[in-house]
Amino acid sequence: MPHPSPFSIPIPCTDVLSYLFPPSCPPSTDLVWIDAVDTSKSLSPAQLLQWVKRLGFGLQKLGLREDDVVMIYSSNHIFVPVAYLGIAGSGCIFTGCNPAYGADEMAYQIQNTGTKAILCAPELLDTALKAAAKEHFPKDRVYLFDDSDCAPIHGIKDWKNILGTEEEARTWTWTQLSADEAKQKTAVLNYSSGTTGLPKGVMITHQNIIANTVQSLHMRQLTSGDPSIPPTPQTSTGPERWLGFLPLYHAYGQLWTIVAAAATRTPTYMMRTFSFQPFLSHMARHRITHLQTAPPVVVLLAKRPETARHDLGSLRNVLCGAAPLSRELQNEVSEKLDVKVVQTWGMTEVTCSSLHVPGLVDDRSGSVGLPDPGTVIKLADDAGREVQGPGVRGEIFVKGPNVCRGYWRNESATRDAFDEEGFLKTGDVAVRDERGWFWIVDRKKELIKVKGFQVAPAELEAVLLEHDGLADAAVVGLQAEHGQELPRAYVVRKEDAKKNGLKESHVVEWIGGKVASHKRLDGGVAFIEEVPKSPSGKIQRKVLREWAKKDSNVG
Ligand code: AMP
Repeated sequence: MPHPSPFSIPIPCTDVLSYLFPPSCPPSTDLVWIDAVDTSKSLSPAQLLQWVKRLGFGLQKLGLREDDVVMIYSSNHIFVPVAYLGIAGSGCIFTGCNPAYGADEMAYQIQNTGTKAILCAPELLDTALKAAAKEHFPKDRVYLFDDSDCAPIHGIKDWKNILGTEEEARTWTWTQLSADEAKQKTAVLNYSSGTTGLPKGVMITHQNIIANTVQSLHMRQLTSGDPSIPPTPQTSTGPERWLGFLPLYHAYGQLWTIVAAAATRTPTYMMRTFSFQPFLSHMARHRITHLQTAPPVVVLLAKRPETARHDLGSLRNVLCGAAPLSRELQNEVSEKLDVKVVQTWGMTEVTCSSLHVPGLVDDRSGSVGLPDPGTVIKLADDAGREVQGPGVRGEIFVKGPNVCRGYWRNESATRDAFDEEGFLKTGDVAVRDERGWFWIVDRKKELIKVKGFQVAPAELEAVLLEHDGLADAAVVGLQAEHGQELPRAYVVRKEDAKKNGLKESHVVEWIGGKVASHKRLDGGVAFIEEVPKSPSGKIQRKVLREWAKKDSNVG
């Protein structure tokens, strides 16, 4: 039998703006989004709503229609929440492009989404224009996007030029969605390779976003896995302050730094990008109480001497997801900083998370916890048959109000992603104990995770095959220290390239200039005679994983 969540809560079924700004309640004027460096830059929900309406009006004036995609290409700042809620709230679809991407990677996302307008950080404009040119994307649909006013660059204007006036904003209102519409209407396209192949646009609906916010906020206030013990109200655990460093093109940053921050009105100090030293300084200066983070940051907190040089005494709770975190590291940080470290499991296809350790439990076990309210999990064998019993390994299959509708304009990938009972096949392998708590024990899909970010082997393989000297290529994750992974390529050289002395280091260097830094082949390149393939031509990734295990110097 599948395992339903022991918890149950009502989940509003409407559009995101109606959820965050119910007509019965005037929007809060307390500051929520605050620039971590220059705290004079800030937005309250009331101010955000005013900007959202001006943007909604502006997008309509531009001629954008329902379900047109608008792309943000920027690092974090306080106006990204305005763009996210303004775009999704006005009936368009938000997609965030990783600001570390180069022109080719961005061009792929422009083409794959069918983007109609781009809001671009000034420092990324040259790359954006290269990507736009590749896709014959009109230059006059690119706008500079920053938290300060921008003078035109190469004739490209500030996004504020497209906004409605305050007067016009007053006349604009969003379309409220019925429950059925909220379940169908895509708000966001986040990119993920899923269990196989190239990155794909995951269709996240209004209902998905609201459900996952409500689920996650419920789980964090629980003191126990016992459903008869109600959650502690947020107000009774004292005022909170969060740090917004998770990237806002990714589901994890969007859920906490935009939607949950708005829903709970929690002051959230925005960092443009993550860097450890400024991160520690902001933690101390802004007296951060809760972190939403990923294992690489936990590793830094545990291992780096700078941690002890900062006063992190305000910190109470660390939520860690996006990649495996060992029990040892979890406990090391927990003891060192005297905080609770609770894990969550999720993926882009479930909006953000489907399993959480109850947030106020002192868990030391490395578990990813219990299914969120409304979630049903089954563990399945390679044939998709459910496995039973405590400690038996199986792939996580998940159903719930936060599970995506499927992939954008990709029916076959959508079909393959779900089983016949409508469960999403996740590619992650887990075990369950007799109390119903889960532990992640393996990943059987192709995906490699580097510092919590996705690397799709199929994407790197396609780039490698563009190299004149390479005849074939396969990429796999190499295990590195503290559970981290590094992409490693096994490639076949053409005869000419052998004669011309093409070396492994040449390939590493060459690809490094073509992809974002987290996708570089830091696990190295090995020359082989033939890529192992099945009779149908599929790369035998199990064999590659065995090779990578032997090539790794981590025990
Ligand atoms: P993303 O779609 O970028 O959020 O990546 C999702 C993938 O990250 C999952 O399918 C897992 O492979 C991995 N992941 C997320 N959370 C955890 C966790 N707590 N433990 C182990 N792996 C995780």
